[in-house]
Amino acid sequence: MSKPPKNAPAADAAPVANFIRHIIDEDLAKGTYAARTWGGQPGPARTHAGSPADPARIRTRFPPEPNGYLHFGHAKSICLNFGLARDYGGVCHMRFDDTNPEKEEQEYVDSIIDAVKWLGWSWNANNKDHLYFASDYFDVMYEAAEYLITSANAYVDSLTAEQMRTLRGTLTEAGKNSPYRERSVEENLALFRGMRDGKYAEGEHILRAKIDMASPNINLRDPAIYRIRRATHHRTGDKWCIYPMYTFAHPIEDALENITHSICTLEFEDQRPFYDWLMARLMEGQLIQHPAPHQYEFARLNLTYLVLSKRKLIELVEDKHVDGWDDPRMPTLVGARRRGYTAEGFRLFAERIGVTKSDSWIDYSTLEECMRDDLNERAPRRVAVLDPLKLIIDNYPEGTEEECHAPNHPQKPDWGKRNVPFSKELWIEREDYMEVPSKGYFRLYPPGVNSAGEATAGNKVRLRYGFVIECTGADKDADGHLTAVHCHYFEDSKSGTPGADTYKVKGNIHWVSAKHAYAAEVRLYDRLFKAPHPGEGRDEGDYILDLNLDSVKSVQAQLEPALREAKLGEHYQFERHGYFVPDRVDPVTGEPGFNRAVTLKDNWQK
Ligand code: ATP
Ligand code: MG
Repeated sequence: MSKPPKNAPAADAAPVANFIRHIIDEDLAKGTYAARTWGGQPGPARTHAGSPADPARIRTRFPPEPNGYLHFGHAKSICLNFGLARDYGGVCHMRFDDTNPEKEEQEYVDSIIDAVKWLGWSWNANNKDHLYFASDYFDVMYEAAEYLITSANAYVDSLTAEQMRTLRGTLTEAGKNSPYRERSVEENLALFRGMRDGKYAEGEHILRAKIDMASPNINLRDPAIYRIRRATHHRTGDKWCIYPMYTFAHPIEDALENITHSICTLEFEDQRPFYDWLMARLMEGQLIQHPAPHQYEFARLNLTYLVLSKRKLIELVEDKHVDGWDDPRMPTLVGARRRGYTAEGFRLFAERIGVTKSDSWIDYSTLEECMRDDLNERAPRRVAVLDPLKLIIDNYPEGTEEECHAPNHPQKPDWGKRNVPFSKELWIEREDYMEVPSKGYFRLYPPGVNSAGEATAGNKVRLRYGFVIECTGADKDADGHLTAVHCHYFEDSKSGTPGADTYKVKGNIHWVSAKHAYAAEVRLYDRLFKAPHPGEGRDEGDYILDLNLDSVKSVQAQLEPALREAKLGEHYQFERHGYFVPDRVDPVTGEPGFNRAVTLKDNWQK
């Protein structure tokens, strides 16, 4: 039994049973895959023949096509596949499914590797990196295609795409055989080799599996398996001008890698019979090891207020609805990281939503709740004033300052306290003062006259970790705009001193010392779409019309001085405001600006 990969994260929670775990439990109990051998690297049966038993009890894989950045849906698949391998003494392969030469690029390969590592997973097991490229298997795939031809299981068709479509039939009507279906093995082989050697134009010939044009499953009506494409591949260059179709390539990739449980999303369910057909043929030809991998389907992730399809994400970037793939509003892992979401939060999310066999929508707040739960544990507390208003303590001595002591985490006393400077002028939140208080308002308001005509005192509040103050009035400019609030402080009310408890006040507000704070840009993010199911009920599903045009707000905040030291990758709770991460550095001052990952409570619940 193999050791778990070195840096695989420990399970974030006890694994929850699901239908895939049941299947694996049964396979392990029956020893379904116990006789497989492993030749140390992927390959056809001859690579593994005579080798020791496979040290991995199961093998799963995460097989992205390197044609875009990973999104939240991929995170579900990653956590599922790598998590199963971790829990069952198996190995999960990181495999680039790069059989389509047209849209694939190294940039995407690099970003996918980064994202999976960032999520905390590793494909290293027993000192070997299980990082594979499907394009490395082109020779074996070609060999498999020739085997299908010689065993009369495939033929070269020369119909046009249009003619082929017509003969395919429909859901209710059987298809018809192509006039080329009965070509001899010799003729098929010669044509296929001619295709490989570049003798024909794109679309002139295509290789098809020979199964059943009358099958009720359209995927079994002689599916195309190899086509001519004169394209340069990001790894194999111009070596090939024919490329395997995905449905042919994928099962072979799984078989060569000794995958046991090949887990994909539900839309591939109708492909499973072809997967099994192909595996059976290749086992007959002794090209691949016995028993073959098996495909299982699970429900893909759909998250409300987001779109999770690569095509739509590409559109958002190319049409500049967002500022690139790593825009913190994007449901990509690079975006989430800048937003301040954590890898642990994603893993928790994957555990909580589980794995099912029917499609549904997960509410976005479920993901946010996972991020809060994780960030609450890891984020030291700090103070920031996002909408600053000056507070002047008239009876505090000019030119004096002192320290207050604020806990770094209220539930973790061992994280200690930090010093926060206090002085005569502070910044407070604009919303913590009201000239005319509304009912139930406990924060600052000035002396006035109540409805009975009696004089009332200004309100008292506690400056968190500091003193109790009483509001005495406010200044306005010529236009009537508030410029500063005035107050008196009670010298013997300082938090942590013996007198503090004798003051009973209902309001408790946060502040930073104006002289010591620093001004920085803070970006507050909201959901990217304002409709829970973007595009639903609109012509052509035009989800762009559902974009939330207010999804980011930039404010000039005043931050406590300790935040100057914040490093990229650290997370903080700004008290009362939520969880934030440093995201960029001011080019002039070198001081960090922040992004809000998530508020402390769900503001969307009505
Ligand atoms: P999209 O449908 O967004 O274009 P994709 O399926 O084309 O994504 P791939 O790179 O082929 O993207 O996917 C890699 C793996 O991630 C596949 O195994 C796929 O099943 C899985 N995956 C993709 N989207 C989701 C999702 N929304 N939920 C769960 N798994 C997903
Ligand atoms: Mg895909």
